[in-house]
Amino acid sequence: MLKVEHVTKYYGDVLAVDDLSFEVKKGEIFGLLGVNGAGKTTTFRMITGLLDKNSGTITLDGKPIDYSITDKIGFLTEERSLLTKLTVKEQVIYYGILKGMKEKDILEKLDILLKRLHIEEYKERKIKELSKGNQQKVQFITAIINEPTLLILDEPFSGLDPINVELFMDVIRELKEKGTSIIFSSHRMEHVEMFCEKLVVLVRGKSVLAGNLKQIKKDYRKKNIHVEAEKLDITKLKQVKGVLDVIQNENEVIVKIASEENVNDVFDCVKTCKGVTKFVVEDATLNEIFLEKVGVMYENKM
Ligand code: ATP
Repeated sequence: MLKVEHVTKYYGDVLAVDDLSFEVKKGEIFGLLGVNGAGKTTTFRMITGLLDKNSGTITLDGKPIDYSITDKIGFLTEERSLLTKLTVKEQVIYYGILKGMKEKDILEKLDILLKRLHIEEYKERKIKELSKGNQQKVQFITAIINEPTLLILDEPFSGLDPINVELFMDVIRELKEKGTSIIFSSHRMEHVEMFCEKLVVLVRGKSVLAGNLKQIKKDYRKKNIHVEAEKLDITKLKQVKGVLDVIQNENEVIVKIASEENVNDVFDCVKTCKGVTKFVVEDATLNEIFLEKVGVMYENKM
């Protein structure tokens, strides 16, 4: 288990991470979220031992993170960090050996992963000849070749098409099943929703929202009702108690309500309309919660 306790980091006068604490258990996928400059990369670099913290402690399975346990960590950085003149095979062997693996084991694992990610044919090709998405796959392979205990994924899906996002997700879910603790950062909230049980949202290095995703949604209380009907009286809907907004999309109307208690009143109004084919109550999206919580912190300048 990874434990980050009261960690603070300054760059000169700039406070990049402010008294941050969180835990990632074995087999858990944890989201570290925040706008640009919120302190995510700084946190990742401190966890991996690339950067010193000013105060606080970081432990993996009870031990401080130092060179003796970095072999157990996999880190997919946001920026590319590949040696582009090497072939895919040479690059992965290089990383695997740095992580203390034997060449024979690296090659066995490499063949499996190349196949899983549909890039077997690139094994002997130079990295600079690969497309951006395929380079991202090679970087992902280097991060997981050692079957890490802790895997850090900084924007893992950048540059990937939806089919390849699914491929990555399958491999990540499999690692989770095997017990890897995974920390994941992304600006794409739908990816975070698909993946993370727990999360922390940073604003200027400080945690402003943290906990279990289901509980965060429950505590937020607001809901969205998706309605499809031949003819909806939008003006009347807007006047229903608890309705915060009504959004007309191409194929449906979304009624935003203050809490679950307002569902019946909206239903009573909708059922008076013609040709209703859909009435679905959903939690607010993580994107909405993020925009509201982070937006307020920004307006108040903390
Ligand atoms: P992004 O989503 O844009 O990658 P981030 O959440 O990863 O952002 P960090 O890169 O950790 O944010 O930056 C946190 C803060 O620390 C920012 O104010 C940034 O300007 C500052 N910072 C980061 N690296 C340095 C550095 N080497 N020297 C000085 N300040 C830095």
